[in-house]
Amino acid sequence: MLNIVIFGAPGSGKGTQSARIVEKYGLNHISTGDVLRAEIKNGTELGKTAKSYIDNGQLIPDALMIDILASVFDSFKDSKGVIFDGFPRTIAQAEALKEMLKARGQEVSVMLDLEVPEDELMTRLIKRGQESGRADDNEETIKKRLVVYHSQTAPLIDWYKKDGKYCHIQGLGTMEGIFADICAAIDKL
Ligand code: ATP
Ligand code: MG
Repeated sequence: MLNIVIFGAPGSGKGTQSARIVEKYGLNHISTGDVLRAEIKNGTELGKTAKSYIDNGQLIPDALMIDILASVFDSFKDSKGVIFDGFPRTIAQAEALKEMLKARGQEVSVMLDLEVPEDELMTRLIKRGQESGRADDNEETIKKRLVVYHSQTAPLIDWYKKDGKYCHIQGLGTMEGIFADICAAIDKL
């Protein structure tokens, strides 16, 4: 199985590039953000809990996220591989992912870190908020999310470097150019 972690700050293009990877390599896609937004839309208990964190730019608690992730992963049958988009976002989540995959005879193949400068992230997310109306894409919440990214999520860069899975991808440029770099990294595996 090809198990790819797509990583990067909010607005770095994880969702956009994941869709292309899924299409080209025939993988299953887990976007934790999409899972949570679907729960919110359906008005479930989980959705209500998630909304209070998301609207505040905070992360959903690890224990909850880890359970959700495992149940989505186990719903895939005869999978060629999975792209993890938006997970892990904390060291605890990375450790849990490693354990979960190990228990299933699997491992992360590569972690692709989409690096994008902060001013470009702000521009993209404000534009997305105006076009899609995503409630957390407003200036105040974006700033909080970036703080959370730097304090809780960015430490995963060193974690994956130590684990030997890290791959840097320049996240600035055309969508096609970035995708070509991603494919080159995957095809080397
Ligand atoms: P991108 O624009 O690159 O796709 P994003 O950060 O804008 O990324 P999502 O990945 O959709 O957006 O996540 C939206 C929100 O959902 C996060 O700000 C967070 O509150 C919550 N969330 C998503 N994944 C996790 C996770 N693994 N752990 C905790 N909270 C999460
Ligand atoms: Mg996304």
